[in-house]
Amino acid sequence: MKIIMLGAPGAGKGTQAKMIAEQYKIPHISTGDIFRANIKEGTELGKEAKTYMDKGLLVPDELTVKILLDRVAKEDCKNGYVLDGFPRTIPQAEVLDKALTELGDKIDYAINVDVPDENIINRMSGRRACLSCGATYHIEHIPPKKEGVCDTCGSELVLRDDDKPETVKNRLNVYHEQTQPLIDFYTAKNVLKTVDGTVDMKDVFAAITEILDK
Ligand code: ADP
Ligand code: AMP
Repeated sequence: MKIIMLGAPGAGKGTQAKMIAEQYKIPHISTGDIFRANIKEGTELGKEAKTYMDKGLLVPDELTVKILLDRVAKEDCKNGYVLDGFPRTIPQAEVLDKALTELGDKIDYAINVDVPDENIINRMSGRRACLSCGATYHIEHIPPKKEGVCDTCGSELVLRDDDKPETVKNRLNVYHEQTQPLIDFYTAKNVLKTVDGTVDMKDVFAAITEILDK
């Protein structure tokens, strides 16, 4: 099963993608996590990506597409995957579509996690991320057991640089201009499914499994 998560930054794509990956035993691939791991390791890719990410801008398609295509060509992706944060532009979606078509394959579901802009700033300012294992929490809605410490790996939780309110506004503008058109793109391919992302994360997941189990 090949799944794409769509939605504004902070809509809950990563939260749901992790649950999907666990339940359906497919890898969770987040381009944001790949960039953050490169930043942490100090690679050239990380240094370049950071200049865009810190401003709330998208990393250029040429860089992002190559990383994603290399990742989905790996053995563990044979039976499918859930993509979180890719594609984010129409050209990225077209490249992925072409690569899959050449393999006689296609995306099965594009799940749009729908959350209005009004809720997003709160979601992002309360988000705490573990840069070691990629786990995500929310200080009010989904708190870790011990404040500031990752339940999964015990590392320190941080407010991401790009989750500060001034950057979030830019990211929302970029989302509306460059990523939202993907809703029409995947509607035209008959794979778009929209779920209400404002309800409890367990209820969002129940709506998603109902779609995937049909
Ligand atoms: P995205 O991957 O779309 O950027 P995340 O999955 O990281 O979003 O979620 C953004 C923030 O909102 C996180 O702090 C997360 O814990 C929280 N969150 C996710 N889903 C819900 C939900 N259904 N209700 C409340 N908060 C949520
Ligand atoms: P995320 O973790 O998905 O919120 O992504 C964090 C940041 O990484 C984004 O704001 C972008 O700067 C960059 N990024 C992640 N995925 C992509 C992508 N598919 N295309 C371009 N930039 C991306």
